[in-house]
Amino acid sequence: MEAREVIYADNAATTKLDIDVFDAMKPFLLEDYSNPSQPYSFSRESKNAIKNARKSIAFCIGADPEEIYFTSCGTESDNWAIKSGGESGIATSIIEHHAILNSCKSLEKKGVKVIYAPVNSVGEIDITWLEKNLSSEIKLVSIMFANNEIGTIQPIEELAKIAHRNNCVFHTDAVQAVGHININVHEMGIDMLSASAHKFNGPKGIGFLYIKKGVILPAFFDGGGQERGGRAGTENVPSIVGMAVALQKNCDHIKQNENYIRGLEEKFIHELQGLNIDFIRNGSNNRIPGNVSLSFRGCNGEMLLHRLDLMGICVSTGSACDSENIQISHVIQAINVSPEYAHGTIRISLGINNTENEVIKIARSLKRIIN
Ligand code: PLP
Repeated sequence: MEAREVIYADNAATTKLDIDVFDAMKPFLLEDYSNPSQPYSFSRESKNAIKNARKSIAFCIGADPEEIYFTSCGTESDNWAIKSGGESGIATSIIEHHAILNSCKSLEKKGVKVIYAPVNSVGEIDITWLEKNLSSEIKLVSIMFANNEIGTIQPIEELAKIAHRNNCVFHTDAVQAVGHININVHEMGIDMLSASAHKFNGPKGIGFLYIKKGVILPAFFDGGGQERGGRAGTENVPSIVGMAVALQKNCDHIKQNENYIRGLEEKFIHELQGLNIDFIRNGSNNRIPGNVSLSFRGCNGEMLLHRLDLMGICVSTGSACDSENIQISHVIQAINVSPEYAHGTIRISLGINNTENEVIKIARSLKRIIN
Protein backbone atom coordinates (compact mmCIF):
# COMPACT_ATOMS: atom_id res chain seq x y z
CA MET A 1 0.00 0.00 0.00
CA GLU A 2 1.36 3.40 -0.93
CA ALA A 3 1.75 5.94 1.86
CA ARG A 4 -0.73 8.80 1.58
CA GLU A 5 0.97 12.04 0.67
CA VAL A 6 0.67 14.49 3.52
CA ILE A 7 1.51 18.17 3.67
CA TYR A 8 2.60 18.59 7.25
CA ALA A 9 2.12 22.20 8.36
CA ASP A 10 1.81 21.71 12.11
CA ASN A 11 5.44 22.07 13.16
CA ALA A 12 4.50 23.99 16.30
CA ALA A 13 2.74 20.82 17.51
CA THR A 14 5.70 18.58 16.73
CA THR A 15 8.43 18.19 14.12
CA LYS A 16 9.83 15.36 12.02
CA LEU A 17 12.79 13.56 13.57
CA ASP A 18 16.00 14.55 11.80
CA ILE A 19 17.78 11.58 10.20
CA ASP A 20 21.15 12.51 11.77
CA VAL A 21 19.40 12.57 15.14
CA PHE A 22 18.01 9.09 14.52
CA ASP A 23 21.45 7.81 13.50
CA ALA A 24 23.02 9.27 16.64
CA MET A 25 20.35 7.65 18.85
CA LYS A 26 20.47 4.16 17.31
CA PRO A 27 23.66 2.84 19.01
CA PHE A 28 22.27 3.79 22.41
CA LEU A 29 19.13 1.74 21.75
CA LEU A 30 20.80 -1.34 20.31
CA GLU A 31 24.39 -1.53 21.51
CA ASP A 32 25.32 0.85 24.31
CA TYR A 33 22.13 0.21 26.23
CA SER A 34 23.71 0.17 29.69
CA ASN A 35 22.33 1.99 32.69
CA PRO A 36 24.64 5.01 32.95
CA SER A 37 24.61 4.83 36.76
CA GLN A 38 26.41 1.48 36.87
CA PRO A 39 30.12 1.48 37.76
CA TYR A 40 31.35 -1.12 35.22
CA SER A 41 33.13 -0.12 32.04
CA PHE A 42 30.22 -1.14 29.77
CA SER A 43 28.41 1.91 31.17
CA ARG A 44 31.17 4.30 30.17
CA GLU A 45 29.75 5.04 26.72
CA SER A 46 26.29 5.99 27.96
CA LYS A 47 27.73 7.98 30.88
CA ASN A 48 29.97 9.93 28.49
CA ALA A 49 27.12 10.40 26.05
CA ILE A 50 25.02 12.10 28.72
CA LYS A 51 27.95 14.26 29.77
CA ASN A 52 28.62 15.37 26.20
CA ALA A 53 24.94 15.99 25.49
CA ARG A 54 24.65 18.16 28.59
CA LYS A 55 27.70 20.14 27.50
CA SER A 56 26.46 20.61 23.96
CA ILE A 57 22.94 21.66 25.04
CA ALA A 58 24.36 24.11 27.58
CA PHE A 59 26.60 25.62 24.90
CA CYS A 60 23.64 26.12 22.55
CA ILE A 61 21.76 28.28 25.07
CA GLY A 62 24.73 30.00 26.74
CA ALA A 63 24.48 28.02 29.98
CA ASP A 64 26.93 25.90 31.98
CA PRO A 65 26.54 22.10 31.74
CA GLU A 66 25.69 21.80 35.46
CA GLU A 67 22.72 24.07 34.84
CA ILE A 68 20.96 21.60 32.49
CA TYR A 69 18.52 19.06 34.01
CA PHE A 70 16.99 16.44 31.71
CA THR A 71 13.23 15.92 31.97
CA SER A 72 10.66 13.93 30.00
CA CYS A 73 9.14 16.90 28.12
CA GLY A 74 8.34 20.61 28.14
CA THR A 75 5.30 19.99 30.33
CA GLU A 76 7.44 18.37 33.02
CA SER A 77 9.97 21.20 32.90
CA ASP A 78 7.15 23.74 33.28
CA ASN A 79 5.58 21.80 36.17
CA TRP A 80 8.92 21.61 37.95
CA ALA A 81 9.63 25.32 37.56
CA ILE A 82 6.14 26.44 38.58
CA LYS A 83 5.55 24.03 41.44
CA SER A 84 8.96 24.54 43.00
CA GLY A 85 8.17 27.66 44.98
CA GLY A 86 5.97 26.07 47.67
CA GLU A 87 3.62 28.69 49.03
CA SER A 88 5.14 31.72 47.28
CA GLY A 89 3.14 33.67 44.75
CA ILE A 90 3.60 33.56 40.97
CA ALA A 91 3.15 36.10 38.21
CA THR A 92 2.46 34.72 34.75
CA SER A 93 0.42 35.73 31.69
CA ILE A 94 -3.01 34.87 30.38
CA ILE A 95 -1.61 33.47 27.12
CA GLU A 96 0.68 30.78 28.56
CA HIS A 97 0.52 27.16 27.45
CA HIS A 98 -1.69 24.95 29.63
CA ALA A 99 1.41 23.30 31.06
CA ILE A 100 1.92 26.60 32.89
CA LEU A 101 -1.71 27.66 33.33
CA ASN A 102 -2.88 24.35 34.78
CA SER A 103 0.18 24.10 37.04
CA CYS A 104 -0.74 27.54 38.35
CA LYS A 105 -4.38 26.50 38.75
CA SER A 106 -3.42 23.51 40.85
CA LEU A 107 -1.32 25.78 43.09
CA GLU A 108 -4.18 28.28 43.37
CA LYS A 109 -6.35 25.45 44.75
CA LYS A 110 -3.78 25.13 47.54
CA GLY A 111 -4.04 28.82 48.32
CA VAL A 112 -1.04 30.10 46.33
CA LYS A 113 -1.49 33.58 44.91
CA VAL A 114 -1.19 33.73 41.10
CA ILE A 115 -1.54 36.88 39.04
CA TYR A 116 -2.03 36.84 35.26
CA ALA A 117 -0.66 39.68 33.16
CA PRO A 118 -2.87 40.75 30.26
CA VAL A 119 -1.58 41.20 26.70
CA ASN A 120 -2.25 43.70 23.93
CA SER A 121 -3.89 42.93 20.59
CA VAL A 122 -0.74 41.33 19.17
CA GLY A 123 -0.04 39.24 22.25
CA GLU A 124 2.66 41.32 23.92
CA ILE A 125 2.68 41.28 27.73
CA ASP A 126 1.45 44.45 29.43
CA ILE A 127 4.74 45.23 31.15
CA THR A 128 3.39 48.23 33.05
CA TRP A 129 0.60 46.10 34.52
CA LEU A 130 3.09 43.41 35.48
CA GLU A 131 5.47 45.73 37.27
CA LYS A 132 2.62 47.51 39.07
CA ASN A 133 1.17 44.22 40.33
CA LEU A 134 4.34 42.54 41.57
CA SER A 135 4.10 42.51 45.36
CA SER A 136 6.36 41.03 48.02
CA GLU A 137 4.19 37.86 47.98
CA ILE A 138 5.26 37.10 44.39
CA LYS A 139 8.56 35.24 44.15
CA LEU A 140 8.44 33.78 40.63
CA VAL A 141 7.70 35.45 37.30
CA SER A 142 7.03 32.98 34.48
CA ILE A 143 6.44 34.37 31.00
CA MET A 144 6.68 32.32 27.81
CA PHE A 145 9.44 33.17 25.32
CA ALA A 146 7.22 32.78 22.27
CA ASN A 147 3.55 31.95 22.08
CA ASN A 148 2.64 28.59 20.55
CA GLU A 149 -0.59 29.80 18.92
CA ILE A 150 0.33 33.16 17.46
CA GLY A 151 4.14 33.14 17.60
CA THR A 152 4.59 36.48 19.41
CA ILE A 153 8.04 36.78 21.02
CA GLN A 154 8.13 38.54 24.40
CA PRO A 155 10.77 41.09 25.49
CA ILE A 156 12.51 38.50 27.65
CA GLU A 157 15.49 40.59 28.79
CA GLU A 158 13.21 43.38 29.95
CA LEU A 159 10.90 40.95 31.74
CA ALA A 160 13.86 39.32 33.50
CA LYS A 161 15.05 42.74 34.67
CA ILE A 162 11.60 43.59 36.04
CA ALA A 163 11.48 40.24 37.86
CA HIS A 164 14.90 40.79 39.41
CA ARG A 165 14.13 44.41 40.40
CA ASN A 166 11.23 42.94 42.36
CA ASN A 167 13.27 40.12 43.94
CA CYS A 168 11.69 37.42 41.82
CA VAL A 169 13.18 34.46 40.00
CA PHE A 170 12.50 34.62 36.24
CA HIS A 171 11.36 31.49 34.38
CA THR A 172 10.49 31.29 30.69
CA ASP A 173 8.68 28.53 28.85
CA ALA A 174 10.84 28.55 25.73
CA VAL A 175 9.43 25.35 24.23
CA GLN A 176 8.51 27.10 20.97
CA ALA A 177 11.68 29.19 20.79
CA VAL A 178 14.64 26.92 21.59
CA GLY A 179 16.35 25.78 18.39
CA HIS A 180 14.51 28.38 16.33
CA ILE A 181 15.89 31.68 17.56
CA ASN A 182 19.14 32.58 19.30
CA ILE A 183 18.91 32.35 23.08
CA ASN A 184 21.63 33.10 25.61
CA VAL A 185 20.26 32.53 29.09
CA HIS A 186 23.14 34.24 30.92
CA GLU A 187 23.09 37.33 28.71
CA MET A 188 19.29 37.54 28.81
CA GLY A 189 19.08 37.20 32.60
CA ILE A 190 16.97 34.03 32.52
CA ASP A 191 17.00 32.00 35.76
CA MET A 192 15.01 28.99 34.51
CA LEU A 193 14.06 27.88 31.00
CA SER A 194 11.92 24.99 29.75
CA ALA A 195 12.57 23.25 26.43
CA SER A 196 11.36 20.17 24.57
CA ALA A 197 13.26 18.21 21.90
CA HIS A 198 10.33 17.27 19.65
CA LYS A 199 9.82 20.95 18.78
CA PHE A 200 13.25 21.14 17.13
CA ASN A 201 13.44 17.89 15.14
CA GLY A 202 14.48 15.81 18.12
CA PRO A 203 12.67 12.83 19.65
CA LYS A 204 9.43 13.05 21.64
CA GLY A 205 9.42 12.44 25.38
CA ILE A 206 12.58 14.32 26.26
CA GLY A 207 13.16 17.89 27.37
CA PHE A 208 15.25 19.89 29.78
CA LEU A 209 15.00 22.54 32.41
CA TYR A 210 17.83 25.04 32.68
CA ILE A 211 18.24 26.14 36.29
CA LYS A 212 20.75 28.88 36.91
CA LYS A 213 23.41 28.13 39.51
CA GLY A 214 22.26 29.57 42.83
CA VAL A 215 18.55 29.05 42.15
CA ILE A 216 17.52 26.34 44.58
CA LEU A 217 14.67 24.05 43.47
CA PRO A 218 13.37 21.13 45.50
CA ALA A 219 13.73 17.76 43.74
CA PHE A 220 10.90 17.09 41.29
CA PHE A 221 11.10 13.28 41.45
CA ASP A 222 12.42 11.55 44.54
CA GLY A 223 14.32 8.34 44.01
CA GLY A 224 17.89 7.69 42.90
CA GLY A 225 20.40 10.50 42.67
CA GLN A 226 20.16 11.15 38.91
CA GLU A 227 20.32 14.75 37.66
CA ARG A 228 22.22 15.76 40.77
CA GLY A 229 19.38 14.61 42.99
CA GLY A 230 16.88 16.90 41.24
CA ARG A 231 15.11 14.49 38.94
CA ALA A 232 15.41 10.83 39.82
CA GLY A 233 14.89 8.07 37.26
CA THR A 234 17.18 6.18 34.89
CA GLU A 235 18.20 8.57 32.15
CA ASN A 236 16.69 8.23 28.67
CA VAL A 237 20.14 8.02 27.07
CA PRO A 238 19.13 7.65 23.38
CA SER A 239 16.72 10.57 23.60
CA ILE A 240 19.16 12.76 25.52
CA VAL A 241 21.74 12.10 22.78
CA GLY A 242 19.12 12.81 20.10
CA MET A 243 18.04 16.04 21.74
CA ALA A 244 21.63 17.30 21.86
CA VAL A 245 22.28 16.46 18.20
CA ALA A 246 18.99 18.05 17.13
CA LEU A 247 19.62 21.25 19.06
CA GLN A 248 23.22 21.51 17.87
CA LYS A 249 22.16 21.01 14.25
CA ASN A 250 19.38 23.58 14.50
CA CYS A 251 21.62 26.11 16.24
CA ASP A 252 24.36 25.64 13.63
CA HIS A 253 21.85 26.59 10.91
CA ILE A 254 19.61 28.93 12.84
CA LYS A 255 19.85 31.96 10.54
CA GLN A 256 19.74 29.88 7.38
CA ASN A 257 16.64 28.02 8.63
CA GLU A 258 14.98 31.24 9.70
CA ASN A 259 15.53 32.86 6.31
CA TYR A 260 14.19 29.81 4.51
CA ILE A 261 11.09 29.52 6.70
CA ARG A 262 10.37 33.27 6.58
CA GLY A 263 10.59 33.00 2.78
CA LEU A 264 7.92 30.26 2.86
CA GLU A 265 5.73 32.38 5.14
CA GLU A 266 5.98 35.34 2.78
CA LYS A 267 5.16 33.19 -0.22
CA PHE A 268 2.15 31.73 1.59
CA ILE A 269 0.75 35.09 2.70
CA HIS A 270 1.38 36.57 -0.74
CA GLU A 271 -0.46 33.66 -2.36
CA LEU A 272 -3.41 34.01 0.04
CA GLN A 273 -3.63 37.76 -0.52
CA GLY A 274 -3.88 37.14 -4.24
CA LEU A 275 -6.88 34.85 -3.75
CA ASN A 276 -9.38 37.39 -2.55
CA ILE A 277 -10.09 35.86 0.86
CA ASP A 278 -10.98 37.99 3.89
CA PHE A 279 -8.57 37.11 6.71
CA ILE A 280 -6.35 38.65 9.36
CA ARG A 281 -2.99 37.45 10.60
CA ASN A 282 -2.59 37.23 14.38
CA GLY A 283 0.46 38.00 16.49
CA SER A 284 3.15 40.68 16.48
CA ASN A 285 5.67 41.30 13.71
CA ASN A 286 8.29 39.87 16.05
CA ARG A 287 7.28 36.21 15.78
CA ILE A 288 9.06 32.88 15.78
CA PRO A 289 9.71 31.73 12.22
CA GLY A 290 6.97 29.66 10.60
CA ASN A 291 4.09 30.48 12.93
CA VAL A 292 1.17 31.71 10.83
CA SER A 293 -2.05 32.16 12.80
CA LEU A 294 -4.89 33.27 10.54
CA SER A 295 -8.49 34.17 11.28
CA PHE A 296 -10.86 33.87 8.32
CA ARG A 297 -13.98 36.01 8.39
CA GLY A 298 -17.25 34.09 8.76
CA CYS A 299 -15.50 30.69 8.87
CA ASN A 300 -15.23 27.90 11.39
CA GLY A 301 -11.68 26.87 12.27
CA GLU A 302 -12.67 23.27 13.05
CA MET A 303 -14.37 22.96 9.68
CA LEU A 304 -11.28 24.38 7.93
CA LEU A 305 -9.03 21.93 9.78
CA HIS A 306 -11.15 18.92 8.83
CA ARG A 307 -11.61 19.97 5.20
CA LEU A 308 -7.85 20.53 4.88
CA ASP A 309 -7.32 17.13 6.51
CA LEU A 310 -9.43 15.54 3.76
CA MET A 311 -7.03 17.12 1.28
CA GLY A 312 -4.04 15.64 3.15
CA ILE A 313 -3.00 18.91 4.83
CA CYS A 314 -2.24 19.01 8.57
CA VAL A 315 -2.78 22.32 10.38
CA SER A 316 -4.12 23.12 13.80
CA THR A 317 -6.69 25.21 15.59
CA GLY A 318 -5.22 26.73 18.74
CA SER A 319 -2.63 24.55 20.44
CA ALA A 320 -2.43 20.80 19.85
CA CYS A 321 -3.75 20.13 23.34
CA ASP A 322 -6.76 22.30 22.55
CA SER A 323 -7.79 20.67 19.32
CA GLU A 324 -10.68 18.78 20.96
CA ASN A 325 -12.00 22.07 22.21
CA ILE A 326 -14.18 23.89 19.70
CA GLN A 327 -14.35 27.11 21.68
CA ILE A 328 -12.23 30.12 20.81
CA SER A 329 -8.81 29.52 22.36
CA HIS A 330 -7.70 31.49 25.43
CA VAL A 331 -4.99 33.17 23.34
CA ILE A 332 -7.33 34.33 20.57
CA GLN A 333 -9.71 35.61 23.26
CA ALA A 334 -6.86 37.37 25.08
CA ILE A 335 -5.82 39.32 21.98
CA ASN A 336 -9.44 40.28 21.37
CA VAL A 337 -9.92 39.03 17.82
CA SER A 338 -13.41 40.13 16.80
CA PRO A 339 -15.92 37.23 16.84
CA GLU A 340 -16.63 37.22 13.09
CA TYR A 341 -12.94 36.37 12.56
CA ALA A 342 -12.11 34.56 15.84
CA HIS A 343 -14.21 31.45 15.08
CA GLY A 344 -12.34 30.98 11.81
CA THR A 345 -8.86 30.72 13.32
CA ILE A 346 -6.29 28.15 12.25
CA ARG A 347 -2.55 27.89 12.83
CA ILE A 348 -0.29 26.90 9.97
CA SER A 349 3.20 26.27 11.33
CA LEU A 350 5.91 25.83 8.75
CA GLY A 351 9.27 24.20 9.24
CA ILE A 352 12.48 23.35 7.43
CA ASN A 353 10.90 20.34 5.74
CA ASN A 354 8.17 22.37 4.01
CA THR A 355 8.49 23.54 0.42
CA GLU A 356 7.23 26.45 -1.64
CA ASN A 357 4.94 24.11 -3.61
CA GLU A 358 3.37 22.96 -0.38
CA VAL A 359 2.55 26.45 0.86
CA ILE A 360 1.02 27.32 -2.52
CA LYS A 361 -1.11 24.15 -2.29
CA ILE A 362 -2.26 25.05 1.23
CA ALA A 363 -3.28 28.57 0.13
CA ARG A 364 -5.18 27.28 -2.90
CA SER A 365 -6.89 24.56 -0.85
CA LEU A 366 -8.04 27.20 1.64
CA LYS A 367 -9.47 29.24 -1.20
CA ARG A 368 -11.38 26.21 -2.53
CA ILE A 369 -12.82 25.41 0.91
CA ILE A 370 -13.78 28.96 1.79
CA ASN A 371 -15.44 29.64 -1.52
N1 PLP B 1 4.92 24.98 26.32
C1 PLP B 1 4.65 25.38 25.07
C2 PLP B 1 4.74 26.83 24.73
C3 PLP B 1 4.29 24.46 24.09
O1 PLP B 1 4.02 24.87 22.86
C4 PLP B 1 4.21 23.09 24.45
C5 PLP B 1 3.77 22.09 23.46
O2 PLP B 1 3.02 22.38 22.55
C6 PLP B 1 4.53 22.72 25.77
C7 PLP B 1 4.89 23.70 26.67
C8 PLP B 1 4.50 21.29 26.18
O3 PLP B 1 5.61 20.60 25.67
P1 PLP B 1 5.64 19.00 25.60
O4 PLP B 1 4.78 18.59 24.47
O5 PLP B 1 7.07 18.64 25.37
O6 PLP B 1 5.16 18.52 26.91
